[in-house]
Amino acid sequence: MSAADDCIDEVARFLVTFGAVDRAAARHVLAAGGGCAGCGPSAGSWPCAVAASTARARVALRGSGALSANPVMPAGPA
Ligand SMILES: [Zn+2]
Repeated sequence: MSAADDCIDEVARFLVTFGAVDRAAARHVLAAGGGCAGCGPSAGSWPCAVAASTARARVALRGSGALSANPVMPAGPA
């Protein structure tokens, strides 16, 4: 699994934890111009990181793909 995949998993876990999957998915949709409606023109290619993360979270919530157990962010001070 790549570092980018770990980041996607980390955001997906965050979205699931805070019950924000549907809200984020509703905002980050494919715009008419081909970019993300939520991120705007600066997002680059579709899907944006949030849209990729909401898709990943939905797979995990369906139970067909566990999120990575390899957090990217450090745990913080002990
Ligand atoms: Zn977006």
